[in-house]
Amino acid sequence: MPEAALIDGKVFAEALRARVGAAAAAFAQWAGRRPGLAVVLVGEDPASQVYVGAKGKACEAAGIASFEHRLPADTSEAALLSLIERLNQDEAVDGILVQMPLPQGLDEQAIIAAINPDKDVDGFHVINAGRLSVGQAGFIPCTPLGCMMLLKDRLGDLSGLDAVVIGRSNIVGKPMAQLLVDANATVTIAHSRTKNLADIVRRADIVIAAVGRPEMIRADWIKPGATVIDVGINRLPPEPGKERGRLVGDVAFAEAREVAGAITPVPGGVGPMTIAVLLRNTLVAAHGHAGLPAPEGL
Ligand code: NDP
Repeated sequence: MPEAALIDGKVFAEALRARVGAAAAAFAQWAGRRPGLAVVLVGEDPASQVYVGAKGKACEAAGIASFEHRLPADTSEAALLSLIERLNQDEAVDGILVQMPLPQGLDEQAIIAAINPDKDVDGFHVINAGRLSVGQAGFIPCTPLGCMMLLKDRLGDLSGLDAVVIGRSNIVGKPMAQLLVDANATVTIAHSRTKNLADIVRRADIVIAAVGRPEMIRADWIKPGATVIDVGINRLPPEPGKERGRLVGDVAFAEAREVAGAITPVPGGVGPMTIAVLLRNTLVAAHGHAGLPAPEGL
């Protein structure tokens, strides 16, 4: 069997960012202002600082105004809620993203609930989760929407395909499963209590791995020719003499590539899609706030 095709999220994400950039420029000309994204970071978590920096840069590169709010770790819930209320009212702000995880003592659900659902470009608000669940237009979490774009690009029509989603988090697994059902796939959601996981995965034409366990999914779990989307980002312990360990996904990539029909690498697969979809959602939010229909082809 030939080696699986690589699903190159980096290339797809760059093309999406370019389309968003062109549409953002057209919007700015029409509206007399750029679309705007406010990113709120509380505390000094190093990974979160990197993500927030990357989001700001990606916004500016796409012609989206970025408003960064960096608050100390001891920020009170009342102060954070009052900032969100200000951003809800601010007409220059189309999207609001509060970087998770929040420091202990801040109630993540209460903070997400305070965001205007029409500015909730992360798609984490219960209103948006509900909209997705009943098939109404709303914001869909960036990572699963990015996975769906890669899948449709690769497979076209997903009707009747067997899909297994491993993981049931609110930000990846559950919305991913919903998107697959909406695309007429037959979906199984697996999690830590699932029995005979390998057998279940072996039935799937589409495997979505969103677990957070390095290289858990082995080649002999994969149906020959299946399409494998690896959401996991795990850092291995450093090898002797190295400062940092390698990044790997939830799938044992090298061996799975011998069996799968197509597979995303880690890094360079799903990861780059997440920020590109965030920009896309912000642009869609800007159109909504301006009373325009969502731009086509995004
Ligand atoms: P969570 O920790 O919230 O969820 C993990 C899920 O995996 C849970 O549903 C859990 O089951 C399940 N699980 C844990 N162990 C097993 C097991 N042994 N067998 C089967 N299922 C298991 O993680 P997230 O959904 O937030 O993220 C998943 C991965 O994706 C992480 O590696 C994360 O870093 C990565 N990620 C990548 C993004 C990107 O941009 N590429 C964005 C977001 C996440 P249970 O519910 O029973 O506990």
